[in-house]
Amino acid sequence: MKIVKIETKRLRVPLKRPFQTALRRVESLEDIVVIITTQSGLQGYGEGAPTPVITGETMGTMQAVIEYLTPFLAGRDLEEFDALIETIHTRILKNTTAKSALEIALYDLKAKTLQLPLYRMLGGSQKNFRTDITISLGETKEMVADALDAVALGYDTLKIKVGSNPLKDIERIEAICEAVGKKATLRLDANQGWTPEECITVMQRLESKGIVPELIEQPIKAEDIEGLRAIKERIQTPLLADESVFTLNDARRLLDLEAADLINIKLAKCGGISNALKLADLAGEYGVKCMIGCMLEGPISVGAAVHVASAKADIITMIDLDAVALCQSNPLKGGVRFEESNIILPGSFGLGVEF
Ligand code: MG
Repeated sequence: MKIVKIETKRLRVPLKRPFQTALRRVESLEDIVVIITTQSGLQGYGEGAPTPVITGETMGTMQAVIEYLTPFLAGRDLEEFDALIETIHTRILKNTTAKSALEIALYDLKAKTLQLPLYRMLGGSQKNFRTDITISLGETKEMVADALDAVALGYDTLKIKVGSNPLKDIERIEAICEAVGKKATLRLDANQGWTPEECITVMQRLESKGIVPELIEQPIKAEDIEGLRAIKERIQTPLLADESVFTLNDARRLLDLEAADLINIKLAKCGGISNALKLADLAGEYGVKCMIGCMLEGPISVGAAVHVASAKADIITMIDLDAVALCQSNPLKGGVRFEESNIILPGSFGLGVEF
């Protein structure tokens, strides 16, 4: 089945409330949808949201990279699937979100031609998942209110954004912990906002008061692997690497150095489904569990991540796929169902999305 057309469309969905981390503030989700059409008229859908402060991509670079790769893919047969994936990754370096968007569309098409839901094609069977929800960085009072709202909506795991002033962060975490009590598990994400010393101070202070979150995510600069290792030795809370791991080599280096307890896999960081599966397998070899996360991106690519989570359910034990829940509405029909904390995979072929 030959690929005859690759198009892109822009998607913009307002968020329920502004999203604030140590790195950025965003008011609406904006991303690029890729549509690949075959000779027979079958279409595959992909998607990706540029996150300049994490992957270095913008809407403009994503568009340009997809246009650049199009002539290398158009006219070729879907049957040479592995070679198509290889083309995406070898014809241009970096640009992981653009690559992921193209890959997702190809995987969607392949699963449709095999008449299987994508997760089935990838060997998965689990259909139901629960995601955490992000509590944006803000004033303590607002964060406590957001946390209580989330618990009232049925979320039992909260991902608290920290990474500003360490003393303020301790105050934020303690206040949220006190407010939600045993009703929710807390995950912390500092988005590289602390120094190693600050992280050790904050976490030891919390731990001494009996507050041991499920994990602390990317407390310090992505490239500071030695710092991560020093932190891991000094705190009880499991350390999750996010921005430090894009590639398989990043993960291998980190795991060899025992600089993290857990790895956060995101399609937009690793370049799509093929590398996400490989990252999970690599972590599995080290006996390390993974989280699957997302950027502020839409239901096609977040949905694709859910299919990956199903395929590697034994290794991907933590789900951080709340981007659709943060949107005012879901602009798509079909696909993965996002009902607050509950995520349900569809039985339809491919991603099951109607665009
Ligand atoms: Mg993170």
